[in-house]
Amino acid sequence: MKDQFGRTIDYMRISITDRCNLRCKYCMPDGCAKVSMSQILTYEEIERICRVAARLGISKIKITGGEPLVRLGCTDLIRSLKATDGIDEVTITTNGQNLCQYIDELKSAGADGINISLDTLDAERYEYITGGGRLENVLQAIDAAAASGVRTKLNCVLQAGFNDDEVLRLAELGFQKEIDVRFIELMPIGIADPSQGVSNEEVLRILMERWPDLQRDETVHGNGPAIYYKRPGTDGAVGLISAIHGVFCAGCNRVRLTSQGQIKPCLCFEEGTDIKPYLQQSDEALEAALRDAIYRKPAAHCFTEEQFGSGDQRLMSQIGG
Ligand code: SAM
Ligand code: SF4
Repeated sequence: MKDQFGRTIDYMRISITDRCNLRCKYCMPDGCAKVSMSQILTYEEIERICRVAARLGISKIKITGGEPLVRLGCTDLIRSLKATDGIDEVTITTNGQNLCQYIDELKSAGADGINISLDTLDAERYEYITGGGRLENVLQAIDAAAASGVRTKLNCVLQAGFNDDEVLRLAELGFQKEIDVRFIELMPIGIADPSQGVSNEEVLRILMERWPDLQRDETVHGNGPAIYYKRPGTDGAVGLISAIHGVFCAGCNRVRLTSQGQIKPCLCFEEGTDIKPYLQQSDEALEAALRDAIYRKPAAHCFTEEQFGSGDQRLMSQIGG
């Protein structure tokens, strides 16, 4: 469906849990707020929302969190969503810590893509930034995901003075493994400090200096705003998601559904529609509520320095990054 500015909205990112097995410094260093299971949408409720959203033209779903693979039955949900009329694509974003044990299930459930977060290739740094994660686990997961044949991508968030010296190593990993590596600018969500972020303009400068033959790749790689670059003769590409410095709101195609049932039309703003009361009503009433929530999507984010602080104060894990 179209929103009030005429943008086609066909993609929903769904957080299925606020919980996580890691404690990333810029995401939830102190863990997530305690939320009881009764406040969290059940899988049946998520399935129903997706079935109704599909009637409005939502055809692509991303399962995220928190860490989606810590919630039991995540792969069954993916299987069920894949079987939903009108849903063409279901993908997942994970930190990869326990992905190896789920790869076969994800593949057989029909997952169309796996995005794995990896900010550093240094084991000590990894343990520090993730609050105890093991680099070895995620590297094994990347290999298993790539070998499974399910489209695999890496997401990296750079921070000045921490991992901004790893741009080339991370990009190289993608070229070697023939998978896309995307650099996402640090966003002022929750406790993240945007002054620590590294602009993708700087990332591109570093990449071009090392690989002057890097070329803009116009082929479609996914649903998002990433701008891709390729080296001739290689399969992996580098994607730049310029969440702060890029102006991609005019082409935004997405809404979010939080684990507690809020339709959040823009990542930046706290406002959204609590969809839970409509789950007690007919599909028609639910559809009308979803339509209204999506239609009112704001024109653009508020991640500029002047406005920083006016945005959503919840953690990324609560919003569904
Ligand atoms: N736990 C999963 C993971 O880490 O991939 C899924 C949820 S996590 C919130 C999704 C993505 O959001 C991760 O790639 C993470 O690095 C990114 N993220 C978290 N906080 C962020 C921030 N403040 N700015 C930019 N990206 C952020
Ligand atoms: Fe967990 Fe992902 Fe947040 Fe890290 S970024 S704490 S892995 S939800």
